[in-house]
Amino acid sequence: MKIHFHGAARTVTGSMHLLEVNGARILLECGLFQGKRKETYKRNKNFPFDPASLDAVLLSHAHIDHSGNLPNLVKQGYTNKITATRATTHLVKLMLRDSGHIQESDAAYSNKKRAKKGLPPMEPLYTEKDALEVANYFQSVEYDAPIEIAEGVRATFMDAGHILGSAGIALDITEKGRKYRVWFSGDIGRRDLPLLRDPVLPTNADYLLMESTYGDKGHRAPQEAYTELRAVVQKTIARGGKVIIPSFAVGRTQELAVFLHQMMNKGEIPSVPVYVDSPLAINASQIFNEHPECMDAETLADVRNRGHAALDFKEITYTRSVAESKAINDYKKPAIIISASGMAEAGRILHHLRNNIGAPRNTILIVGWQAPYTLGRRLAERETDIKIFGEWFTRKAEVETIGGLSAHAGQEMLIEYASAIKDQVKKIFLVHGEDRGALPLKKELEMQGFKEVIYPEKNSIFEI
Ligand SMILES: [Zn+2]
Repeated sequence: MKIHFHGAARTVTGSMHLLEVNGARILLECGLFQGKRKETYKRNKNFPFDPASLDAVLLSHAHIDHSGNLPNLVKQGYTNKITATRATTHLVKLMLRDSGHIQESDAAYSNKKRAKKGLPPMEPLYTEKDALEVANYFQSVEYDAPIEIAEGVRATFMDAGHILGSAGIALDITEKGRKYRVWFSGDIGRRDLPLLRDPVLPTNADYLLMESTYGDKGHRAPQEAYTELRAVVQKTIARGGKVIIPSFAVGRTQELAVFLHQMMNKGEIPSVPVYVDSPLAINASQIFNEHPECMDAETLADVRNRGHAALDFKEITYTRSVAESKAINDYKKPAIIISASGMAEAGRILHHLRNNIGAPRNTILIVGWQAPYTLGRRLAERETDIKIFGEWFTRKAEVETIGGLSAHAGQEMLIEYASAIKDQVKKIFLVHGEDRGALPLKKELEMQGFKEVIYPEKNSIFEI
């Protein structure tokens, strides 16, 4: 087998690995590369192979950095199946559609600027219509159920505990009479994340392709995030304020909702309205409710006891229409508002920030890593003069940050993951990591006796 590392090689976006085995060409992931606009456009548009030459695509989970270039792949001639778990195929359709919409708005914005400079308009990377087209190619599989992908290649999807539907993929290969197993980790989740099952560790694998995003450090426990969130909500409600949370629509929003439900259920915080104000988050929550196979034991027990969907409880309101979203501002009593985008760069969260930033009784709660130069980062750094929709505001609302909600394995978990196959694994390839994460992990694994730990460069090819 030959492995071509075409994406998420020495970086964390644009996941894309091409396998050649028994004359078949199998693509693992087709993620969007994210970075500076000019570079990303070119890189995402031009595949380093002919999409029409591929026999199969396997997708570990729905995140856009793993799935977001599928519309281009199909547009450029791919005609075979895209195989993923049932929950992933549901969720990814939603996310690609949203991504298509974003690509179109980005292009429209750029074209306004280009027109002023007398430049011709550019095409969006892909459109919402292109994204919808991908739906015709999906093939769903259940967890733990092997499926023949190509001659002598059987794939089994195992729960990765990272987001809804996420999987590690075991590839059992028979090649020229030789039998071996390649295990692709996808993105690895963590133990004890709310809602999701714990990651399944690899078994019997001869080769491991493993993510290394947080290979340099551990995370705080999800339980600490719970405690910190509780404290923020308690003090804000006590002073009559609102808690405004910019949050990614998929994953983080659902985790926050379930924590808040648990707190109210136990009487730890007063019963106040929780608004989830993001159409994408609402759709994602609905899809989650439809997939009990992805829920952990605690969530399943809760669903059984209450006879209610996991993400429905009496205090929560999902606001879909613009009118409903605007009406939240008329509610003057304490409330919790969760809205996208996660880094406060776009979306409905901007309206909530504008409406609430000026009052010291309110809290803006930052729940994840914020990229430099985003509004989320400026808030996390507690700047006082904040520009929203081109208008300056003096921030009087308090800002709090909590950690512990990462959906990625930390160093300890990654080492445990590799150690599960220590006696058998011949080579480990570290993907989906930058030097900062991957190099310390490589060193640590080598110190623990793993012989061949490889950190492949982009477009490098390995024969196994
Ligand atoms: Zn992911």
